[in-house]
Amino acid sequence: MRQDYHTHTFRCQHAQGDVMDYAAVAAQKGLHVLGVTDHTPLPQPFPNSRWMMIRMGLSELDSYDQAIENARLAYPELKILKGMECEYSAELLPFYREELLAKRKFDYLILGNHFFPSGRKWIGAHSHIKGRKDLIAFAEHTVAAMATGVFAFIAHPDLFGNSYELWDEHTIECTKLILDAAVAYHVPLEINAYGLRKEPLITKAGPRPPYPLAPFWELAATYPGVRVVVNSDAHQPADVGEITAVEEIRQKYGLQLADLSYLGEK
Ligand SMILES: [Zn+2]
Ligand SMILES: [Zn+2]
Repeated sequence: MRQDYHTHTFRCQHAQGDVMDYAAVAAQKGLHVLGVTDHTPLPQPFPNSRWMMIRMGLSELDSYDQAIENARLAYPELKILKGMECEYSAELLPFYREELLAKRKFDYLILGNHFFPSGRKWIGAHSHIKGRKDLIAFAEHTVAAMATGVFAFIAHPDLFGNSYELWDEHTIECTKLILDAAVAYHVPLEINAYGLRKEPLITKAGPRPPYPLAPFWELAATYPGVRVVVNSDAHQPADVGEITAVEEIRQKYGLQLADLSYLGEK
């Protein structure tokens, strides 16, 4: 069984191709499951400018639905799941539950914790995690999202490595909060291959991928209840199913795959 539960489309403004292009590559590579998880739009009256650069507009939801429907018809051998990569904020839960999951029959939602509150303001995980306070805020926001039960898994839970360079007592504290909650709430964590396709980060300890963070997954392996999922996070069709490198990380630390075969089953 080969699957990829995390891919994008052009609608998020920083990816190329539509669902049909990703499905063509998935079918050609012999995948069985293709999960489409573009970045969610925000409902009205949510400040419409928030996170504007990295997501689709609300008016594009119909075309997203249609693109997935068309690809399902064109590639009946492929199980194409309708998903969304979502930011977490408690005020967004009704939109996720009622509009996406109930009305539009999304198969699943995943958490992409790219923005979270630290102190009085929202900051971006890609560039603005600079100290313990931000790391703990990132972890607590991730944990709060897990507790809702809305998200099928947590995308790149080690995204903080993109802006916080060191592996130290603070990253360990942050990681343990996330791992404890993953076990308690039975939410799988994703080893995300997109970070491996990015430019390495030059840190004082030498170059490393911005994520996944090897020590994060080494620590995860000491939690028997942790389950993981390995995905491409493809932002262009050619990257669909490219999970060899993250599968190697999973096997190196002996991490157990989550069973997501229930997704899309009634
Ligand atoms: Zn993401
Ligand atoms: Zn993504």
